[in-house]
Amino acid sequence: MNKQETEVFRAIESGKGGMLKFLQQILRIDTQVPPGHDYDKVCDIIQGRYDALGYATSLHEATEKYMKLSGAKHIGLEGPRTNLVARLKGTGKGPTLHISAHTDLAAIQKQGWSVDPLGGEITKTSKYGKSAFDKGGGYIWGRGVGDDKGETAALLLAMEAIKQTGVKLKGNLIVTANCDEEIGGVAGLGYLIREGIVKADMGIQLDGSMTGIGLSAMGRTRFLIRTKGKSYHGQVPILGINAIEKMSKLNIALNDYWRNALLKRKYQTPGIDFGEGLRAKGIECPTGMLNIGTIKGGVQGATVPDLCEEEVLRGMIPGETYDGTLAEFKAVLDGVKATDADLQYELETVNFREGYVVPATDPYAIECQALIKEAVGATLPFTGTLASTDMNYQVVDGNMPCVNFGVGGPYSNGHGQDENASIDEIVECAKAVALITMRKLGTQKA
Ligand SMILES: [Zn+2]
Repeated sequence: MNKQETEVFRAIESGKGGMLKFLQQILRIDTQVPPGHDYDKVCDIIQGRYDALGYATSLHEATEKYMKLSGAKHIGLEGPRTNLVARLKGTGKGPTLHISAHTDLAAIQKQGWSVDPLGGEITKTSKYGKSAFDKGGGYIWGRGVGDDKGETAALLLAMEAIKQTGVKLKGNLIVTANCDEEIGGVAGLGYLIREGIVKADMGIQLDGSMTGIGLSAMGRTRFLIRTKGKSYHGQVPILGINAIEKMSKLNIALNDYWRNALLKRKYQTPGIDFGEGLRAKGIECPTGMLNIGTIKGGVQGATVPDLCEEEVLRGMIPGETYDGTLAEFKAVLDGVKATDADLQYELETVNFREGYVVPATDPYAIECQALIKEAVGATLPFTGTLASTDMNYQVVDGNMPCVNFGVGGPYSNGHGQDENASIDEIVECAKAVALITMRKLGTQKA
């Protein structure tokens, strides 16, 4: 590392106290989704900080079209979908880097928390384990400290340190605070990238952990299926049409489709680790999945149900498109319908997000891995997940090579009760972000 970079790291270290105050401030705003209220309030605070650094900032509220694509009505979204874009123009020739972190929160459980989930309490240790980066700096508690407001704080800390140190970046930087990631990101980063508001040559998604560099995730489509029948007295069911029975037929076909076809559909990702738990089940790469998540229908035992509704989540491997997935799914249902003249169904899409892979041989990924090692002293392995993240919009729609890392690990209870994050780890994450930014965009000699 050169002198300038060392100074930036020193500024990051000494910015820790201010970073914690900022993190507490944004974490006390309840942005659980659904419904996803108060994105505008969170964006307002973050915007003020980037304005002060001399960034050109703007707020972008997703349009009605993106609300529909989000499945807003079915999911129960309320309030404006405000997204912040902060741009720093480079001083010379260089590429554009886009760094994203999300402002929404996973739902907060009503019970089981030993601290105020919106409090931002600080303790010396965590009773759930220890971060590999903990040097005695303590832990901060609350929903979002690991996913994803801790990352928002790390990102700001990095950019403030770069500014304070007087480092001039040659390439352009775009920072986004985008919403709705936890329910698909359609009106968040999806909107910003698909509408061309954010365009860049490469990306960082800060929505992971410091235990690995995420390069691959699955896509998914959320389907609603409704079967229609004919109500009748439950003791004379022969004169009715039972919507639950019809749904059961569809479910038998869906189960067969999943277990016997989708589970064989794999996308090989050499060099990317999907973890021990999946390996034990024979899954080592993105693999087709399906989950029948909810089912409801009927009013009582003595009435033939005329309506049954369920939600099915279809996990898509990279390369599987929404259109192809829909056509195939419909073919499974139609195959059953063809054998039963009384079977009527409706199919609706709640929303979808496509899967992605940045290969482990990608030069940008390899370079980021080396830079993270230089910044924090540890080689993070390339990892993948069967879940999904907003990085798909950067890779699939935005065509950027991208890496995903962030704050948290097994100790941090992301999405669970008592979410907590090591403060030293947030600082280390900021160093990794700062070093990648300076090296990839280039810096002007002071
Ligand atoms: Zn997240």
